[in-house]
Amino acid sequence: MLINIDLYTVVIPILVTIAIAVTLFYVTSKDLRNIMASTVSRRISEYTTLKCPTCGYVKVREFRPGDYVGKVEEEKCPNDGSNLVIMGISKEASINQ
Ligand SMILES: [Zn+2]
Repeated sequence: MLINIDLYTVVIPILVTIAIAVTLFYVTSKDLRNIMASTVSRRISEYTTLKCPTCGYVKVREFRPGDYVGKVEEEKCPNDGSNLVIMGISKEASINQ
């Protein structure tokens, strides 16, 4: 056999090249994500989830200062007139283009 693959002169340089390529790809994609995050304008909205303790009616509205989980709202349930209770406050990021 004339073909003699030398592990140290053929395989290792290929592995090193792959390792460098993967590292470069990883670093570049990380940079791209940072660039995307800084250039695309993002708007983070906070939402308050209200729930009727009687029938389970759920309503989501924009967060207002002073909202906290467990707070009894002035707002009434459209089904039975019970006061709605704040069940949760969540943040949602929307990307504006
Ligand atoms: Zn209700």
